[in-house]
Amino acid sequence: MPKPSEISNLVIIGSGPAGYTAAIYAGRARLNPIVFEGLKMGLPGGQLMTTTGIENFPGFPTGIMGPELMRLMKAQAQNSGARLWMEDVISVDFKQRPFTVRSAERETLAHSIIIATGATAQRLHLPSEDQFWNKGISACAICDGGIPRFKDVELAVVGGGDTAAEESIFLTKYASKVHLLVRSDRLRASKVMQERVLNHPKIQVHWQTVPTDVYGNDWVQGLKLKNTVSSVEQDLTVGGLFYAIGHKPNTALFIDAIELDPTGYIVTKGKSTATNVEGVYACGDVQDHEYRQAISAAGTGCMAALEAERWLSGTGLLQEFLPVSTPEETIENDVIEFSLG
Ligand code: FAD
Repeated sequence: MPKPSEISNLVIIGSGPAGYTAAIYAGRARLNPIVFEGLKMGLPGGQLMTTTGIENFPGFPTGIMGPELMRLMKAQAQNSGARLWMEDVISVDFKQRPFTVRSAERETLAHSIIIATGATAQRLHLPSEDQFWNKGISACAICDGGIPRFKDVELAVVGGGDTAAEESIFLTKYASKVHLLVRSDRLRASKVMQERVLNHPKIQVHWQTVPTDVYGNDWVQGLKLKNTVSSVEQDLTVGGLFYAIGHKPNTALFIDAIELDPTGYIVTKGKSTATNVEGVYACGDVQDHEYRQAISAAGTGCMAALEAERWLSGTGLLQEFLPVSTPEETIENDVIEFSLG
């Protein structure tokens, strides 16, 4: 493995909206940042690589495809002077400064680190799930609920916590009816949310019920349901299934080094992105279990880069690099818009 030949100002771990936005700001601030883009999902770009149309990211009035949005963010990061390495970080030594960041291919030294490793939406792994992912199955009602295919049809939400309650209520704006599938005989959601769900005229709660599969042709047309007590099975005709069964933050690498909350999310201080380790910042879904949106991830990515730059300046560690020479390939703003139809 090549030994590190330089100490960089900043290493950014992750290539979703948070990581690329941090890279754009840090690149423009001449920090010459390195981004470990990660291959956890097979490709860089994060969760939006797994979806189709994004209707709520500002600047794209007719929407944009998720992978296209990420291609543009990556291009902007590259054009701003960030160095992008398509590798997973396998360990970080936070005990010694500068920090040592390792991938399977190399190790590198950095004075500061931005963690932007995101979170992974939990899936049920139903037999036909892959066939209908983005074709009626979604892990984000706030993101996808408003698309035309979900309007005026019956939809199902699976889960029993606050997210499931909130997403069911949100979907009533579009759906003719929302079926909330709850595994047990009670909701884990807060009292207020429970009352709102149980009193909502468009929500029907199916207690002690789990989906066992989904069916359709090119789009979800219905679910196979099973009662968890009687094992009785039945079909439910719906035009969409929303998973609200939780997210897992990608923080396995940071256990014991960075303070995590009881659910595994990185704890950041007050309104900042600072972690408990000086010079280490966290942004995006890895530290946000509330909003979990591309724009909020990008916003905290910006904050993390500005805070890292201030910290590097304040400690006298900042090495300013000359404006980057034109990248080998400057990628143009050839936005491909898609029609919401
Ligand atoms: P992520 O996008 O999760 O990116 C994290 C990155 O870190 C990934 O590239 C991953 O490979 C990398 N990584 C992880 N571990 C390592 C490692 N060890 N080394 C290197 N890299 C690593 N939001 C919206 O605003 N609008 C929408 O319409 C929308 N639709 C969505 C649809 C779906 C199906 C899903 C799942 C989410 C959707 N979201 C949407 C939510 C949005 O995708 C997330 O809020 C956003 O992507 C979070 O960005 P992030 O940068 O924090 O993390």
